[in-house]
Amino acid sequence: MSTLAYFFIFCFGTIIGSFLNVVIYRFNSGKTLGGRSMCMTCSKTLAWYELIPVFSYLFQVGKCRSCSTRISHQYPLVELFTGVVFTMIAYHFYDIVFVSFNQYILLVSVYMMIFSLLLVISVYDMRHKVIPDPLVFAFIVFSFFTMFISSVPFGNLFVQPSMSAFLAGPLYALPFALIWLLSRGRFMGLGDAKLILGIGWMFGIVQGGAALMLSFWIGTIVSLLIIFFSKMKFSMNTEIPFGPFLAISTLIVFFFSLNVFDLASIFSF
Ligand SMILES: [Zn+2]
Repeated sequence: MSTLAYFFIFCFGTIIGSFLNVVIYRFNSGKTLGGRSMCMTCSKTLAWYELIPVFSYLFQVGKCRSCSTRISHQYPLVELFTGVVFTMIAYHFYDIVFVSFNQYILLVSVYMMIFSLLLVISVYDMRHKVIPDPLVFAFIVFSFFTMFISSVPFGNLFVQPSMSAFLAGPLYALPFALIWLLSRGRFMGLGDAKLILGIGWMFGIVQGGAALMLSFWIGTIVSLLIIFFSKMKFSMNTEIPFGPFLAISTLIVFFFSLNVFDLASIFSF
């Protein structure tokens, strides 16, 4: 595909990203997704040129044009991130686009949906320390669906998943549901176990294991850094959301096609 095509996909991603910001901000707040966006401080309705993803933020130097209140970094970051991830998804299935356009569109839209949901879940989990059920259930449904779509260029569009693919979800999610139960939600939220159910179905056993392993490594490193730099006294109540680590690992394992053996080979000299 041409550079221009990727550029349009990137722009499309930033527009979806700006919608995802609305979802993150208005979810569970009693507000609807409709209606014009406004400044949260002075309530001024935003004009069209204040709603251009990333650019509006840059031109306004991160401030509201009426009241000069600082706009959260979250807005341009989510927009930019969605643009980049959408472009990467379009590129990831590049092999398929010339063989079966239908298959390409199906795969690209399903994975755009999946990673949009993971992004909303991550930011929401960071802000509120909880993973909302409707979002994680939507993620589970799309992950389950990926088992039935072929991601190889030739052959049928839909495939019959193997038994191990079906089992991967519950197999990985159950231990975490147990940890949640036994620790009464202190070590791990039930939302994390639900997220892992979807990750298992999305990847199967071999890659799913890699996503889990990676999330623990990243989670440990980031938690230690947070504890070190914030000079927080470590206690069992120090709550660091696990959802974002699962999401970022899912992204890495997906785009680099990693599996447990790749990760294990790091330790075999
Ligand atoms: Zn304002």
